[in-house]
Amino acid sequence: MPARPGRHPGADRGGPVDLDRARRILVVRADNIGDVVTTTPALRALRAAAPHAGIDLLASPAGAQVAPMIPELDGTLATSASWQQLPGAGGADAGAEHALLERIGAGGYDVLLVLTSFSQSPWPVTHLGLLAGIGTRVVHSREFGGAVATHWVTPPPDGTHQVDRALHLLAAIGVPDRGRWTALTVPADARHRAADLAADLADRPFALLAPGASCSARRYPAERFGAAAAQLARAGLPVLVTGAEKEAELVARVVAAAAHPDVRPVPPVPLAVCTALIDRAAVAVTNNSGGMHLADAVRTPVAVAYAGTETPDELRPRSTAAALLGRAVPCSPCRQLRCPYGHECLDVPPGTVAAAALDLARHATATHDLPEEDPCAVPATP
Ligand code: SF4
Repeated sequence: MPARPGRHPGADRGGPVDLDRARRILVVRADNIGDVVTTTPALRALRAAAPHAGIDLLASPAGAQVAPMIPELDGTLATSASWQQLPGAGGADAGAEHALLERIGAGGYDVLLVLTSFSQSPWPVTHLGLLAGIGTRVVHSREFGGAVATHWVTPPPDGTHQVDRALHLLAAIGVPDRGRWTALTVPADARHRAADLAADLADRPFALLAPGASCSARRYPAERFGAAAAQLARAGLPVLVTGAEKEAELVARVVAAAAHPDVRPVPPVPLAVCTALIDRAAVAVTNNSGGMHLADAVRTPVAVAYAGTETPDELRPRSTAAALLGRAVPCSPCRQLRCPYGHECLDVPPGTVAAAALDLARHATATHDLPEEDPCAVPATP
C-alpha cells in the first residue's frame, strides 16, 4: 500500500494478511452495545477468511453483552478500557493496565484488528498488542503511530457508516465483505424468556419502547416518550417499556407519563432477552442508541428519535424499515454528551413519534429472515 499524497510516508503500511494461517485473532471494539452490533458484518467476513482461527472480541462490559448473540465469536475479553473512559469516570489505573496486558498476552493471539469510530484512537490498545507479542496489528488512523501497527490504514471519510468503516479495514488486508447487513442470533433460552414476558399479550402485536441511551444528548425526554406510548396504546398497540438495570427510573418515568394500562414496564433482563423481545415486537421505538441497532439486526421496524449528535449516515439502520425523527439544526453533528442548548434537534412532537411507529407497525414488510443478498447498496470504499 503506497502512502497517499499528503499522508505521512509511513502511512498505508502493510498488505494482505494470510488469515487462513491465523490461529488466534483479537478484534477490538471497546465502546457501546450498538457499536458492537455494527461490527457483525466485519466478523462475518473475518470468520469466512479465517475459518480455523479462534476469534475473540475485546469489548466494554456493556458491549460484551452482545457477544453471546454473535456466532462468529469464540470468546470475549471484557474490560473498561482506559482509552475509552470519559472525564469523571474514575481515571486510569496502572494495575488494571498491567492486568489487561497479561490477559491479552495469555490469549496467544497472532492477529490484532482494531475497529474504531473516526474519533477514537487505535494506538493505546495496539501498543498493548505489541507488548503482548501479537505479530500482526491492523489499525485505521490518520495519526502517525510509528511501528506500533504493522498495518496502518488511512480510514475512509469521517461520515462513513460504521459497518462500511469496519469492512474498509478488512478490505485493506485482503478480506472481502460477505454482506453489509448486521445480524444477531438470539439464543433459544432468551426467546423463551421473552415469550414468557409477553405471554399476557397472547399473539397481539405490540411495540417495544427502549428510552435509554448512553448519554443525555441522545435521549428523547421520558415524558414525551410516555405521551407517544399512550397514543400507541390508545390506537390499540400495547407498549412494553424496557431498559437496563440502571435505567429503571427512566423506564418508570415513561410508564408513569403514559398513564395507560397497556403501557407497562419490563423488568431488567439480559440483553439477549431484550433483543428477543424486540424481535417479537411489531415495531421498536428508540433513540439513536443500542436499541436501534438491535432492532436493525433482528429486522424489526424501528421509529427513532434521532438526536443531532451524529449524522444519520454514520449509524442509520439499513436492514429494516426505519423512520429517523429529528429536527435539522445548525449545531449538528455536535458529538456532545449533554446538549449545551435546548435540545432543539429532538424537539419532535410525541404524536409524530407515535404516528411513525404506527405506520411502521402497520405497513412495514419487514422479514425476520436474513437476506439472501446484501440489502445495502452502499459500495465498499477500499
Ligand atoms: S441541539 Fe445541537 S448541540 Fe444540542 S444535542 Fe442537538 S445537535 Fe447537539
